Order: sequence, then C-alpha cells, then structure tokens
Amino acid sequence: MNGWEMVVGLEVHCQLKTQGKAFCGCSTAYGAPPNTNVCPVCLALPGALPVLNGHAVELATTAALALNCTVHPVSVFARKNYFYPDLPKGYQISQFDQPLATDGYVDIGHRADQSPIRVGVTRVHMEEDAGKSVHDRYPAATAIDLNRAGVPLIEIVSEPDMRSAEEAGAYLRVLKQVLEYMGVSDVGMEEGSLRVDANVSARRQGETTLGTKTEVKNMNSFSGVERALEVEFARQVALLEAGGTVQQQTMLWDGSTGQVRPSRTKEGSHDYRYFPEPDLPPLVLASDWIAKMRHDLPELPADRRTRFAKDYQLGEYDVELLTASPRLADYYEAVARAHGDAKASANWVMGEVLAQLKGTGEDIAQFRVRPQDLASLLGMVRDGVVTHTAAKQVFARMVTTGDPPAQVAEREGLVKVDDDAQLAGWLDEVIAEHPAEAERYRSGEKKLQGVLIGAVMKKSKGRADPKKLNAMISERLKG
Ligand SMILES: [Zn+2]
Repeated sequence: MNGWEMVVGLEVHCQLKTQGKAFCGCSTAYGAPPNTNVCPVCLALPGALPVLNGHAVELATTAALALNCTVHPVSVFARKNYFYPDLPKGYQISQFDQPLATDGYVDIGHRADQSPIRVGVTRVHMEEDAGKSVHDRYPAATAIDLNRAGVPLIEIVSEPDMRSAEEAGAYLRVLKQVLEYMGVSDVGMEEGSLRVDANVSARRQGETTLGTKTEVKNMNSFSGVERALEVEFARQVALLEAGGTVQQQTMLWDGSTGQVRPSRTKEGSHDYRYFPEPDLPPLVLASDWIAKMRHDLPELPADRRTRFAKDYQLGEYDVELLTASPRLADYYEAVARAHGDAKASANWVMGEVLAQLKGTGEDIAQFRVRPQDLASLLGMVRDGVVTHTAAKQVFARMVTTGDPPAQVAEREGLVKVDDDAQLAGWLDEVIAEHPAEAERYRSGEKKLQGVLIGAVMKKSKGRADPKKLNAMISERLKG
C-alpha cells in the first residue's frame, strides 16, 4: 500500500458489570435459559416505565473519568428508533446530542519516530443492549431471546486518530485493560461484553483531509479487527488507484473467509429519528459527586506499572507481564508483600504460576494456590527447608490439592535432607553405579560433578541439600 495512509476510528460497546439491567431489575447473568431474565419493562409491555439503574451510572462515570473525559452535569437519554425483531420497544434508549461525557483521550504508546500516540475519545454515552435473534437452519426458523434486552452498555467513540491496524489493536488492548482495572466490565469479547465497530478510510500520504470512510462490523476478536482493517483498507486503495470512489457504507467482516462484503443496511443518524426519551428525566450529576468519583478512581494500569517498577525494582518486561490483568497484579503483590523478596516472588509468579495457568487455561482468580501459601513456600526455599527442585514438586502438589506447603512437604517426604550419613549413603550408591564417570571426575574432569550430583538428586527425589553434596563429592573423589 505504498503511498497510502490508513485512517481509523473505533466505536466500542462495553457491557457494564451490574447485577440488574439498565432500566429494570432483571438479572444480567450470562448463559441463562432464553427469555428467563425478562419483565414487563424489557419486554416493552404497554404501560411499563423505565427506572435508571444508579450503579450503571456510577460505572459509566468511572469509565469516562478513567478515559480522561469531561463528565457533564446534565445528559439526556434519547430514543433511537428502528425496527428489528429483537427490539420489542421499536427503539433503543441511548444518548444522542447530550451524552454523559466527551473530550477524553487514551495514550497507546509510540510511533517509529518516538512520537507518542494519543487517541482522542470523542464521547462516552450510556445505552441499553437489544435482544438476540437466533437463526436455526434445521428446521429453518428464527427465534428471539430477550435476556440481553436492556443490559446496560457504554459506547466509547474514538477520534480517527489511528494510522494502522496495529495502532487500532494497541488502542483496543489499552482500552480493555483500563476498563478491566476500573472494574466496570468483564470485557470478554466471547460473551459479547465488548464489541467493536471500525470506521476506516484511505488517503494519499501527506494529505490532511479525510477520505470517504466505511464502517466495518462483525469482528469478534481484536486480531479479527486488525485483519478486517487490512482487508478493507486494501480494497479501498485498489478502488481509488483504479480511479474509482469509495461508497460510504457498512461492510461486514467474515472471519472464516477473511473477506468483507457490503451490508444491505444503509442508514445515517437522521434515519433513527432521535428524540429525547419522554419516560426518563435528564440525568443530573452533582459536581461534588463527579469530583468524588474522580477521587475514588481505582489505580490505573499505567500508574500501577510505574509503582511496580519503583516499589519492587522490577524491569520493564516483568512489570508488563505482572500487570497484564489487575487480578494477576494483586496476586503478585500479595506474594511479594508476604514473602519480602520482590524479585524471587516475581520469578515464581512469572515462571511456575503463569506456566500452570497457561497449561490449564485457568484464570488467576480460580487458582488454588493462595498468595500466602506461595509466599510460605518461597520462605521455605530461602530458609533451606526445601531445595529449589523439591519446591517445584511441592508447588505441583499445592496446585492440585490447595494444601499449605509445609503440610505437603511433610506428607510427600520432600523436606530437605542434610543428614551427613544419608547424603553419603546416596553418594556412595551413585559412585558405585557410575564407576567410569567417578573415575574420570577423579582424574580431573570436574564437569562430571553435574552428572553425579544430578544422579544423587534423582535418587533423593530432589531432597538432597545441594550445597552439602557439592562439598562432600569433592572430598570423596579427591584425585
Ligand atoms: Zn426487565
């Protein structure tokens, strides 16, 4: 795509982590049987009236403040009218010309020339989700599930400040992390808590006016967004280079074929006949309440990284890894505080703990080894109660049983053996079993010490005190 520049803006819908829906008390729990989390309000039965969920307002405000937005003291709910079978009211309650918050930004890193990339956040507004149409092929039928109807969302609209698919991906990852750290959403794309639409256009390098954009929908992963952007950008550039023009339209991404195709719907905001929702008063937020929300914001990911680097003296790579999710960061911090050695704690969490979680696909929140118990195990290694090798075996048993390390080490016979007679016994057996190696060691091949020590460790199931053993072997096999 030489000579062409991609221009991207993103619209992200994020489900707020509330117990109840935006305008009624129905549960938002994922995975309930179809049409069980419904009531007259979200079914749009005649005469039912919406009541705004205060917790949804708190979470939306927290998100907006974390994205550096100005939260407005007055915002207005509006009806966005359209017909769709999964929208029983015939309109969606959203916000239009007076949204909750505007004018924020997200910093997402640096370009190749080291200039910082700051993506503007145009607006954050509150709205409700629609239901879901379920299309069955055999027998051919469409069913409607209204469990999601009325689930509270925020829509986060960015400025067209991204210049590549990678920048769009970076923005989404930073945004997701911020929302997760703020505790406002589960941010799972699989469960539909996070949905992304992309506006993309192409222009010649050096141009400052924007080209005609298309909206790309239907991506269900961040990498899907990146691939869809590349494909749509290439399509636009080919069109423009051939002397054609780009039509402003909605394109649907098909992840299985890696293609985009035009959607049949074409609508502008005028088609929705927005008007203020007569059933809800304007949302009025006191300025001291907004100030308190700002004051009470949880620690942002960037602040946590800075603090980890300073308080625990960790390198950039370690900090990135350990702060990937707030739950992992909490876990690490609990281990480090209880154990006292930040670096050793980091090595264990990044090594054994992450390897374990990766193997099972588990989240750290479900991990059976409590931070306090991992800290005790690291204390046992430091105090010489177990060897490093045995500690790994103790850890493996802790993962499956959830038992504390002292109990595991005792029960499994993994406590370190530094009894001279026992060590000498194992060593003599190993020398007898490896006469050639012992002889070569005796005549000066010191590198064979590793082989012999390894054999003793194996025989002792990792319990032999390696320090004592090293001293003992050079004593026993003097040349
Ligand atoms: Zn309801």
